[in-house]
Amino acid sequence: MDYTPRGLGDGAPLSEQQLIGAPLHWPSEKALAERPTFGGRKANEGAEHLGLISVQALLEHLPRDRREARTVATLVPGEQATVVVEVRSISSRPVRRRGMRPLVEALVVDETGTLQATFFNQPWLVKKYPPGTRLVLHGSYEARNRFRVSSHAPTADEIGAGDEVGHYPAAEGLSSTQILAAIREHLGAARLAPDPLPGRLRARHRLPDLPSTLLAGHSGQLEPARQRLAFDELLYVQLDLLRRRARRAEAVKAPPLPAAQEGSRADPVDEWIEQQLPFELTGDQQRAVEVVLGDIARGHPMQRLLMGEVGSGKTVVALAAMLRAVANGYQAALMAPTETLANQHFATLQELMPGQTVPVALLTGSTPPARRRDLLGKLASGQLSLVVGTHALIEDDVLFERLAVVVVDEQHRFGVRQRTALDAKAAGPAGAAAPHVLHMTATPIPRTLALLGYGDLDVTELRELPQGRQPVATHLASGERDRARAYERIREELRGGRQAYVVCPLVEESQALAARAASAEYERLSADEFGDFKLALIHGQMASARKAEAMRSFKAGEVDVLVATTVIEVGVDVPNATVMLIENAERYGLSQLHQLRGRIGRGEHASVCICFGPEKSQRLKAFSTWNDGFKLAEVDLQLRGEGELTGMRQSGMAAFRFAVMPQDGELLERARLSAREILELDPELALAEHLPLREAVERARGSLLMATIPA
Ligand code: ADP
Ligand code: MG
Repeated sequence: MDYTPRGLGDGAPLSEQQLIGAPLHWPSEKALAERPTFGGRKANEGAEHLGLISVQALLEHLPRDRREARTVATLVPGEQATVVVEVRSISSRPVRRRGMRPLVEALVVDETGTLQATFFNQPWLVKKYPPGTRLVLHGSYEARNRFRVSSHAPTADEIGAGDEVGHYPAAEGLSSTQILAAIREHLGAARLAPDPLPGRLRARHRLPDLPSTLLAGHSGQLEPARQRLAFDELLYVQLDLLRRRARRAEAVKAPPLPAAQEGSRADPVDEWIEQQLPFELTGDQQRAVEVVLGDIARGHPMQRLLMGEVGSGKTVVALAAMLRAVANGYQAALMAPTETLANQHFATLQELMPGQTVPVALLTGSTPPARRRDLLGKLASGQLSLVVGTHALIEDDVLFERLAVVVVDEQHRFGVRQRTALDAKAAGPAGAAAPHVLHMTATPIPRTLALLGYGDLDVTELRELPQGRQPVATHLASGERDRARAYERIREELRGGRQAYVVCPLVEESQALAARAASAEYERLSADEFGDFKLALIHGQMASARKAEAMRSFKAGEVDVLVATTVIEVGVDVPNATVMLIENAERYGLSQLHQLRGRIGRGEHASVCICFGPEKSQRLKAFSTWNDGFKLAEVDLQLRGEGELTGMRQSGMAAFRFAVMPQDGELLERARLSAREILELDPELALAEHLPLREAVERARGSLLMATIPA
């Protein structure tokens, strides 16, 4: 097809300069919006499936780079890779559970090894790829030679032979070759593609313009083209997040909660920190308190994420904000995901403010009805200013008189709806439109993910641990000799007056099974290894009262060893506990292991964590090497690669066509920076040169992302 613009004098092709300066209503631009045809209903359905519904979409359909293909023997678990293989056998697996996606499994080989490849949702592949078919597969390699295929295409090439142009991801009914033919036919239209990025921005970041990007992408210079398109989509996401944040900051009002005016009297919060708090704040805590109190002094709602290492002391920061609300005549609420944690917070808050006369209430699912009624009355009338609780706080009949500060602890454990349910309660008769919200988490989010998923929150980190904390030494163990030594080591600690946790294997399938395993281990250890000591058991199936009693006796030192499931994962604070044994540690995720380990090393004594699991596990090796939760989160993301993002995608957060995380982290940083610069100049993207960008952001909004906090 000839895409040369017509009716412009001599009909000579335009220079690049002219093309890029072309106005949006460029006559031939319609060509880009046209739907390419592929001949045949099946092929057109395949094109629909791949989203190739316009010439522009077709031109943005980049090939996979063949030159990056790897041999099976060099694959590393957790990694994204392309391989060129031959099918040996292939079959579909019957689907047992309803709602589960159909699977096709193929045994594939290259000259260096064998893979068990899994294809999702494409039962027809069994017929399409009979034994002997050569394939290019892209996907992620997992342990034990398993390969999850994310895209695939047949190839006639010899195994290992690379070629200049890569292979286009195909679909049923539409082959890579057909796609290539269509792209050849329409490639001329690439020159007409209007570039959404302003020329100034492209120059500054040395980005090629869109027409040359598309041309390059289909003629062997794939990576620069992919990067430019990845930059675009990351930029759209960041622009969207930053604009939303700005809009919220302007439009929504919250009660300003300033410090007491100088001259009148000392500010009660400052006074509390200086005179009553039983310890000195760490530098990070001081900074966080300052930032948070600064936020809530303004008339727009705070939306801040406080990310802090386990034991870094986030609660004090939260309490400072809560007390500032009370000092201004408002109410504050802290919500935790479990009853154990809410109980713990309730106790901690009281310890942290010995001299304060502000009463705190506890509201959970186990609060007796009469007590609950009394509490609800006092919250509604404003008699009660501070409340700590679980989901019980967001029930319909819980009303506040003047709620101004909301703290959500371990926020990732709540759904979006639960997290924001408290906000609605702030709009009471005397209240303002929205409260100030502090989201807290001890699961550090790598910066890449934070920018994507929480880009519209302000983030503060607490990295420093309070003084006098001892680092935890972590040892990996396996086999009977290690086991005997581990128990001896624990007995040594116990004889020295310390306490221990034994964490039982995670049983994903059922709480009941986990409980049974923990009970059996408790019996065995009581009778045998720790016969001379006092043991207690805690698991999720016990009644709240029994759980609370187990925790109390352990905290009081009446019990030496606590045999537990992961119910102790968060919030449990017993400084005298110095040793933890984790069974089947390979079943836990890295962040969960780190949370568990955070239960020890909380006092003045050196602590040790012993993990039983396979010696070769990369995850466990990383766990024993690093004590820093932020570092572990980065490692985790690397080991899991896109899997993590797939998880995010399922939870509706982000899906990219070109960007690959975490590899494109640096590109993301640049996109964030550019988004900032653009909005500083033109907050509404109203300038003429930004209109195409604004349209692109709006178009991308539906497909790219959804953020965690509603606008
Ligand atoms: P996390 O950040 O894990 O929620 P917490 O707020 O529960 O941590 O604090 C852990 C423990 O450390 C608590 O017992 C708390 O009282 C104590 N703590 C907090 N800050 C300090 C500090 N600056 N110095 C000493 N101890 C502190
Ligand atoms: Mg905490």
